[in-house]
Amino acid sequence: RHLEKQFPVGEWRPFQPRESVKALDDVSFDIRKGETFGLVGESGCGKSTVARVMLGLIPPSGGQVHFDQHNIFNLDREALRLLRKRMQIIFQDPFSSLDPRKTIEKIVAEPLTVHRIGSVDERRSRVRELLGRVGLTPAAFNRYPHEFSGGQRQRIAIARALALDPDLIVCDEPVSALDVSIQAQVLNLLKQLQRDIGLTYLFISHDLSVVKHISDRVGVMYLGSIIEIAPVDDLFRRPMHPYTLSLMSALPVPDPRAQGRRVLLQGDVPNPIHPPDGCRFHTRCFMAERRCRTQRPGLKVWGEGHQVACHLADRSNHTLKGIMS
Ligand code: SF4
Ligand code: MG
Repeated sequence: RHLEKQFPVGEWRPFQPRESVKALDDVSFDIRKGETFGLVGESGCGKSTVARVMLGLIPPSGGQVHFDQHNIFNLDREALRLLRKRMQIIFQDPFSSLDPRKTIEKIVAEPLTVHRIGSVDERRSRVRELLGRVGLTPAAFNRYPHEFSGGQRQRIAIARALALDPDLIVCDEPVSALDVSIQAQVLNLLKQLQRDIGLTYLFISHDLSVVKHISDRVGVMYLGSIIEIAPVDDLFRRPMHPYTLSLMSALPVPDPRAQGRRVLLQGDVPNPIHPPDGCRFHTRCFMAERRCRTQRPGLKVWGEGHQVACHLADRSNHTLKGIMS
């Protein structure tokens, strides 16, 4: 709820205010039990910061995170420790997130060891079961990460994330480092696991087609804010924010003759230390009006579960259709 996060930048100088980047600017959304909430946006828009704040890894500058009715920043250490077991994270780079000196058995068992769960034998059989769940054979047991391909390493990271039987897994660009042919396999595995054990995912990606494939609902981020939230089908059928549309028009379609015109973004992403006034997107928006330069649009409901932060959301879909056809 209303998450804010500022990071100081540049050097500290006496008697001078330190500049800061607003990495998160009033971010609010819900993730429902059992769903996949996709968070999409260009790199640097604040997606990973959302994840880190949400997991309690870094404190927000403002706002709250609730998990099962508990504000996680009000919990004492022990309660937070217990809660953290229920939330796990998988990172983009399975090459650097697995310790190269440890065997697969040690890596996957690590959360159990840290939390002192089970005997050595029990852990061993749990690891065997987890490897099976992610499609690896027990032959992986005594081998090292470098002996595996990128896709297999991500499976190992997933097995480790499952060790403590979490409720929520944050997937931070989990397939971005993988070949396209391997991406679908890992995404399908995540879906399968969700069905089998009832997991909830926050799925972060800069790649709209990946997010489309796996999400139930999607939030689109731009410069530290969520500018559109919608059920996945609705978002792709009826994108309402001009930024969402420009992202979508850049997606390749199976039949190139059916490709609409690309809605090109004007200019570059603005400097986040000095973000534009008014609508943060106005410097790049093809629909911007005078008031966009001064008035900041908040998220408003425009349909069943569909929220948009744009003064002209009622008009945008029309305009966008015209441009795309
Ligand atoms: Fe564009 Fe204005 Fe809508 Fe912002 S509020 S997205 S500048 S039309
Ligand atoms: Mg990131």
